[in-house]
Amino acid sequence: MLRASERAVVFTGAGISTESGIPDFRSPGGLWTQNAPIDFEDFVSSREMRREAWRRRLAMEDMFSTVQPNAGHLAVAELVRRGKVSHVITQNIDNLHQDSGVPGEQVIELHGNTRYAKCLDCGERMEIAPVRAHFETHGDPPDCAMCGGLVKTATISFGQAMPEEAMARAQEATIAGDLFLVLGSSLVVYPAAGFPRLAKRAGAKLVIVNREPTEQDEIADLVIHAGIGETMQAALAALG
Ligand code: NAD
Ligand code: ZN
Repeated sequence: MLRASERAVVFTGAGISTESGIPDFRSPGGLWTQNAPIDFEDFVSSREMRREAWRRRLAMEDMFSTVQPNAGHLAVAELVRRGKVSHVITQNIDNLHQDSGVPGEQVIELHGNTRYAKCLDCGERMEIAPVRAHFETHGDPPDCAMCGGLVKTATISFGQAMPEEAMARAQEATIAGDLFLVLGSSLVVYPAAGFPRLAKRAGAKLVIVNREPTEQDEIADLVIHAGIGETMQAALAALG
C-alpha cells in the first residue's frame, strides 16, 4: 500500500512514543491507571489544581527534556523525507516527530505541545525551565509576565477548545491523502479519533498498527497488531 501511495498521511498516538520510554494512557500500567487527568475547567478555576497539574508536569521534566525519537519516529521521518508522507498528524505532545527530523510545517499537533508553556489569555510563550524555577521557589507556577494571565503547558486538556487551525489543516491533509496510517492510538479520544473515518470517506486506504485492538479495527483495510518500531522499519525495508 505504501508503494502504491502517492500522498500518505501518518496519524500517531501515545503508542509511537512508548518505545522512547514515555508511558501511554491506556495500556496496562499507563498514566491513567495512576492519575485521572485534570480538566481545563478545574485548571482555570482552582489554584490547587494548577499546582497539582504543574507538580505532575514538572515531575516528568527530566524525562521530557531527555527523551529521544525511536525507530518508529525515524521510519516516519524517512517516509516524509522521501515524499511518501505529506503530513504527520499527531495527538502526542512530546515534540518527538519534530525531533526526528520531520519539518515543523508537516507536523500537525492536535493536542498541543508540552515542551513549552503558554499564557491562556495573551498566548505569550514561556519555557519550562523558568516555570520550574518559579515553582520550586514559590510553590506555585508564575503568572504571565506580559498580562498576568494563567500559565499552562501548551497542551489541549479535556474540556479545552481544540486548536482551530490545526484541526482545519488536519482535515485538509486527510482528505487529500490516498493512504491513512494510524500508529499507536486506541482511537477513543474525539474529535481526533474521527480522522480515520474521514480518510475512509474521502477514499483513502486505512492501515492501523497497534499492539492491542482499537475501536476502529473493523473499518480498516489492514490491521497489524505488533510493535510500531519493528513494523515500520520492516515496511521501510520492503519499500526498498
Ligand atoms: P492511548 O494511550 O489511548 O493508546 C495508545 C495505544 O498504543 C494503545 O492501544 C497501545 O496498545 C498501543 N501501543 C503502545 N505502545 C505500542 C507500541 N510500541 N507498538 C504498537 N502499539 C503500541 O493513546 P492515544 O490514542 O494517543 O490517546 C491518549 C491521549 O493522551 C492523546 O490524546 C495524547 O494527547 C495524550 N498522550 C500523549 C503522550 C505523548 O505525547 N507521548 C503520552 C501519553 C498520552
Ligand atoms: Zn499573558
